[in-house]
Amino acid sequence: MTNSHAARDIDTSRPHSARMYDYYLGGKDHFEIDERAGEQVAGVFPAIYVCARENRAFMHRATRVLAREHGIRQWLDIGTGIPTEPNLHQVAQSVVPDARVVYADNDPLVLKYAERLMRSTSEGRTTYIHADFTEPETILNAPELGEALDLTQPVALSLNALLHFIPDAWGPYDIVARLMDALPSGSALAISHCTPDFDPETWRKLVDIYISSGTQVQVRSKDEFARFFEGFELLEPGVSVGHRWRPEGESDATDAEVSLWTAVGIKP
Ligand code: SAH
Repeated sequence: MTNSHAARDIDTSRPHSARMYDYYLGGKDHFEIDERAGEQVAGVFPAIYVCARENRAFMHRATRVLAREHGIRQWLDIGTGIPTEPNLHQVAQSVVPDARVVYADNDPLVLKYAERLMRSTSEGRTTYIHADFTEPETILNAPELGEALDLTQPVALSLNALLHFIPDAWGPYDIVARLMDALPSGSALAISHCTPDFDPETWRKLVDIYISSGTQVQVRSKDEFARFFEGFELLEPGVSVGHRWRPEGESDATDAEVSLWTAVGIKP
């Protein structure tokens, strides 16, 4: 799909998750309808901005830990989002300049801005695939993926703030397993995921806002989150609320404000 096709496909008649998230992060790549829906979310959950920021911060730390301590040089990041600096490849390439990153998202607006994800170090490499997580074969068989990644060497699969948009009926556990099956031993799985565990009443309302605007959402409990890592060796400190996974500074956020389960596992 070309960028002009993508522009035609952008639906501004209803809010979209990637654009609402851009609004939470203080970005400029969203429309008024997304801002209104985002404000409605903030009316129910004023900490949504904290949650979005801590989500991003987890991605930065998890990427650096995998690069520094686990020899990861390649990433597959699905549900990339509208580019927000620093993007994953910039974080990875700040540690290992030759890091290679394949991004995938199904939102035409993300595709439109994908060239921003391609500004890489000269040694490194990035590429973008317009694809849906629920079609893992399309992602795995994409020629761009084959050109950028060496699947005989460890790859980190990064799914940040994606899986709560994939209800159980769409088979998220099987899809994650299918993707990890394609990666060799020593590969990593890094996930962040919204949870209702600390404030169920508020999260019921948030889920309703998304669903009534046409976006499927299924937030998950700690046990439901941990199931994504069955068979993997969790890095310390295991399943943690986002800001408690290898914090680098002080965060005064509360668990209820962050409301994200996060973890990183290694495939044995
Ligand atoms: N990973 C980024 C952005 C999270 S926002 C971060 O954590 O900062 C969630 C992203 O998932 C959005 O960009 C949305 O377009 C994308 N997404 C939602 N459902 C998807 C699907 N089925 N396939 C691919 N991407 C999807």
